[in-house]
Amino acid sequence: MSLLRDLEGVGADRFRGGYSRHVFTDPELQLRAWFTEQAQRRGLDVEQDRNGNLWAWWGTPGPDAVVTGSHLDSVPGGGAFDGPLGVVSALAAVDELRATGFRPRRPLAVVVFAEEEGGRFGVACLGSRLLTGAIAPERALKLTDPDGVTFGEAAARAGLEPERIGPDPDAVSRIGAFVELHVEQGKALEPLGRPVAIGSTIDPHGRWRLTFVGRGDHAGTAAMADRRDPMLPAARTVLAARSAAKAGTRATVGRLIPVPGGTNVVASRVDVWLDARSASEPGTREAVDEVIAAAQQAAADEGCEVEVREESFSGEVAFDPGLRDRFRGVLGDVPVLPTGAGHDAGVLAAHVPTGMLYVRNPTGVSHAPEEFATDEDCAAGVRALAAVLEELAG
Ligand SMILES: [Zn+2]
Repeated sequence: MSLLRDLEGVGADRFRGGYSRHVFTDPELQLRAWFTEQAQRRGLDVEQDRNGNLWAWWGTPGPDAVVTGSHLDSVPGGGAFDGPLGVVSALAAVDELRATGFRPRRPLAVVVFAEEEGGRFGVACLGSRLLTGAIAPERALKLTDPDGVTFGEAAARAGLEPERIGPDPDAVSRIGAFVELHVEQGKALEPLGRPVAIGSTIDPHGRWRLTFVGRGDHAGTAAMADRRDPMLPAARTVLAARSAAKAGTRATVGRLIPVPGGTNVVASRVDVWLDARSASEPGTREAVDEVIAAAQQAAADEGCEVEVREESFSGEVAFDPGLRDRFRGVLGDVPVLPTGAGHDAGVLAAHVPTGMLYVRNPTGVSHAPEEFATDEDCAAGVRALAAVLEELAG
């Protein structure tokens, strides 16, 4: 897809492979500038809201606007499609509608949400959560990146006014319906032989941080019996996550940071992040409780302390059934899929009628460089999105 090719190379991560495009870093700011230029080239009016989300308007902004879009930031070493596909498909759908002479009767906007992955400040969907009031601005402003820079400082450097960050009911009230197109994260469409699907639900999911504190020491001289090594309960927590992940539950430790982090040093502290999801909220909570209990036992066994913090939790999201019926009305009998992946659409769904479209990912892999969609399938996604926008805004 030619618009997506414009982004190749921006934020390429030589160490991890794939892309690292974290909010308000140079590559992400470069992508924002690209989006703004592309939108302006199409005669769309671009504005940045008080939380760093970008809106490109076809027609006078709100109310009852039909809004589509996604995000441009990535996880560390992420794929090329998660996020950008939804943004470039939205621009391409505008082109496609224009080419047919379509004129929207409702305002139409393309949105780029900030920090969807939480790749820099740890809380996913930060831009849409701030917009809708799902996170308190006081808490968001104090979130820090791995270098100790706060979200407030980074936002100020990017030209936002930290004192204005927070719920934006005027911006939310302009949205009549929200549609997010996204690359499929999983492999349901490949066996079905179908390029596009409609989203049904998002599984409940959350992130927990477990901090194990022991005593730093010399790897050569500290007697094994005297050690309080937090790496041991951390390791047992990783294994507990695997055993807590029963049928339908996913529990993952994808990030673990020992402090100070020396080869010949017994760590003094280890931070472990647990990501857990399941089809039901009790199922998710049960798995997390099991991991926390195992972590506490493991810490006690090794003479360490453990502190557990819930960094975020999102309950089950069911996308709007009325919208889904209208999507099926124009797209026909396309598959309807649940997902375990969180999205800004999941945050918006609590406030406005919201739906999602997925484009087939033949590798089934996401949040990694192998994430993929063919040009033909991307084009099918654009056609589906254009058809849905025409139905909603026509
Ligand atoms: Zn995404």
